[in-house]
Amino acid sequence: MNGYETIIGLEVHCELKTATKLFCGCPNMFGDEPNTNCCPVCVGLPGSLPVLNERAVEFAIRIGLALNCEVRWSNFHRKNYFYPDMPKDFQISQYDLPLNSNGTLELPDGTVIGITRAHMEEDTGKSTHLGGSGRIHGADSSLIDYNRSGVPLVEIVSEPDMRSGAQARAYVAELRAILVAVGATDGRMEEGSMRVDANVSVRKPGEPFGTRCEIKNLNSLRSLQRAIEFEALRQVDALESGERIIQETRHWDEQAGRTGSMRSKEEANDYRYFPEPDLVPLAPSDAWIEQIRSALPALPKERRARLLALVDKSDSATIDLVATVVDRELDDLVIEAVASGAPAQLAVTRAANELDAGGVLPSTASFAATCQMEAAGALSATQAKAVLAALVDEPNADPKELASRLGFEQLSEDSLGATIEEVIGANADEWSRYVGGDDKLAQFFIGKVMAATKGKANGKAVIAELQARRN
Ligand code: ADP
Ligand code: MG
Ligand code: ZN
Repeated sequence: MNGYETIIGLEVHCELKTATKLFCGCPNMFGDEPNTNCCPVCVGLPGSLPVLNERAVEFAIRIGLALNCEVRWSNFHRKNYFYPDMPKDFQISQYDLPLNSNGTLELPDGTVIGITRAHMEEDTGKSTHLGGSGRIHGADSSLIDYNRSGVPLVEIVSEPDMRSGAQARAYVAELRAILVAVGATDGRMEEGSMRVDANVSVRKPGEPFGTRCEIKNLNSLRSLQRAIEFEALRQVDALESGERIIQETRHWDEQAGRTGSMRSKEEANDYRYFPEPDLVPLAPSDAWIEQIRSALPALPKERRARLLALVDKSDSATIDLVATVVDRELDDLVIEAVASGAPAQLAVTRAANELDAGGVLPSTASFAATCQMEAAGALSATQAKAVLAALVDEPNADPKELASRLGFEQLSEDSLGATIEEVIGANADEWSRYVGGDDKLAQFFIGKVMAATKGKANGKAVIAELQARRN
């Protein structure tokens, strides 16, 4: 980076999971047969009139409150531009009076990122370009699906407060977790429920901000980080070879791993914004805002803190596991399991790594009992994982009973000792090297003992027995 720093501000579009669209009664549904969820309003036929969806406003207010925004009197504007995926030739959006403004988002590491605004708008239709690279240039033909046209969006615009691709990624991950937690969206980036535009510029520290480029429509955390890192290096190279950065919109080519120019940047006045004459101003009452505030669920940060209070927070691996548990919404299960006796560290680890958040979860009692059995040495780690996997089919089964059905009778100390003697006898060379100090062979012996006992031996017990015989 040659002493340059990267400056990043993000615009995140989030589809709200309302039953119907923002201004009409058409279903808001991803993946339906194209052009089946359309009506005169959402395809912009003359004479049709928009009616605002109250539920969408409620979701937008939840988002504003969760991001510590001021929620205020606002109105809708027409943003005029011509594109085939927008049949009205204007998008109903918010302009100088957004519903939510001046908020903050705190990253898990404590860094605070400013939120400029979080405003409401309608989504466009979706175009698919056939032939060529999938972009409109060089395509043979284009298909348009208006099912998405008029789907409610909230656009969350950050301040230019981020300084690396990794930090931008952490911001979107945290934002996504917040949006999902408040129930406003399903957060499925791969389905386009969340789409990110990244504004990137570079500067020498202490200098004013440089000219930015905006990378459009990043739809995974990985592409977001890669695109920002590529773009920052591209700008540094350009500046170092004496070029000027021109403000433009760029696209990210995932295969090639590079950004390319799309078009020069529109100015606000290109859009000829004016107040939407078919809608009254949006003036949520204080009582309504307070009612929404008081019904907000716990946010990810608070939920992580609840779990962290139960484990060793000085361990960075544990902090990651806690984040995973909350991300997958397994934290209630873990907290209840701990309350009924499961050791917290183990419950967090097993929940993060073994439970399928989207699938069937074990009952609290069964999950807690499995962790307790493992902690007590009654199940080896491998066996405990197998019991958790089996609980998917019988979430309420007694893990003791499951373990015996799976043949996980723990070996008695005597029979483990005998097996170890046999394995040592059959591998005398390796044993003398192990005794002579070749520690790598521990794994070899554990493997042999596991094979001989069909995985029933407890790994910790095997190590203890090996150590005892080595000295
Ligand atoms: P526009 O409406 O033209 O997209 P905004 O002023 O609303 O422009 O800014 C859009 C985004 O660009 C915001 O997220 C903001 O933080 C970011 N941004 C503004 N200036 C810079 C800059 N010099 N470098 C990087 N990001 C920037
Ligand atoms: Mg923009
Ligand atoms: Zn409609």
